[in-house]
Amino acid sequence: MRALVNAAVYTPTRIIPQGVVLCEGERIAAVGSARQVTIPADAEVIDVSGLIACPGFVDIHTHAGDGGDFTDGTPEAVRQAARRHRRAGTTSLLATTSSEVLAHIFGVFGAIREVMEAPAADEARILGIHMEGPFLSLEQRGAHPPELLRMPDAAEREQLLAWAPWLRCVTLAPERAGALELIDALAARGIVVAGGHSDGTYEQVCEAMNRGMRHTVHCWSGMSTVRRIKAKRYAGMVEASLMEEGLTTEIIADGYHLPSSLMRMAYRLKGPSRLALVSDAMRASGLGPGTYHLSGHICYVDEGEAVAYTEDRLAFAGSVATLLQCVQQVVLTVGISLIDALCMASLTPARIMGLDVLVGSLEPGKLADILLLDPATLEVRRIIQGGEIVVG
Ligand SMILES: [Zn+2]
Repeated sequence: MRALVNAAVYTPTRIIPQGVVLCEGERIAAVGSARQVTIPADAEVIDVSGLIACPGFVDIHTHAGDGGDFTDGTPEAVRQAARRHRRAGTTSLLATTSSEVLAHIFGVFGAIREVMEAPAADEARILGIHMEGPFLSLEQRGAHPPELLRMPDAAEREQLLAWAPWLRCVTLAPERAGALELIDALAARGIVVAGGHSDGTYEQVCEAMNRGMRHTVHCWSGMSTVRRIKAKRYAGMVEASLMEEGLTTEIIADGYHLPSSLMRMAYRLKGPSRLALVSDAMRASGLGPGTYHLSGHICYVDEGEAVAYTEDRLAFAGSVATLLQCVQQVVLTVGISLIDALCMASLTPARIMGLDVLVGSLEPGKLADILLLDPATLEVRRIIQGGEIVVG
């Protein structure tokens, strides 16, 4: 048994000043005040006074890091990316793939599965695959190459569904022909269906919700909004994401993709239990400025900038952030409370993906994934993953 004592514990739904987190093996055994938790005499007691204890971060939308991209299709690239995010306190993530030909994507899934089945101690735990593309809209493709965007045929759909044990989420454009049938099939197997890179109208998004779509990815980025067709205005996926209680959404809170005003708007309209922070990181995350490759195209991270641009520099090609930087951004710059920011980086994303029985909060029975943060800078001082001290 191992006991962390004297931290300000953010569970993250409540704050316990001078709290105790008791770990037994890889799980949390008890959380509470010093009066509530009895520490066994033989437990290793670690005094962490002055620090914040919170759950390890759960990044449900991250593509890459340290030069490795989950879509590269090699276990080493998968491990590079998983190591990069773990260094910054992301203890669990969904390995998010990008648009590619489907045969290549199925190979990529194989590489991710290999790492999931043989995890190393210095990596974020991969809890599943998030497939983003190629079932996306041409009009809202962002950095996804247009020539790759298409829907699966019947045989490919069956191949995809065979990955259900590892596939946690599929992002698609619900207005595409055949999308509703694909939503039916995915939802029936318990795979979370998210809308994104979509040009759909509000009504098309609602129709997809009725078929089982529950989440939308990176609000405002690659997403339809109010448009005028002749005299009439039509709302889009942005408005549906913000208004519909049946949808959760996420923001890339790196400080580049969205201005503070829009981050505040999403936070006010959705609240911390329906809005997740995501990094949407690409391979330059963890490296410096330079020229990088994304889906066969060149992109740039310029000197003094902490974001990647497409070759023409007219669009972003993903962030270079981590969830830790997103938390720091929304707390220190946007003015969102720490308790809500931590919730949006742990419990909320875990719940969106149905992973909250395992991770996302400091509660008895869950995996002992704990971060110790400096309360002033919000830098990570120590990381405990699965009950083991892995940093600090
Ligand atoms: Zn995207």
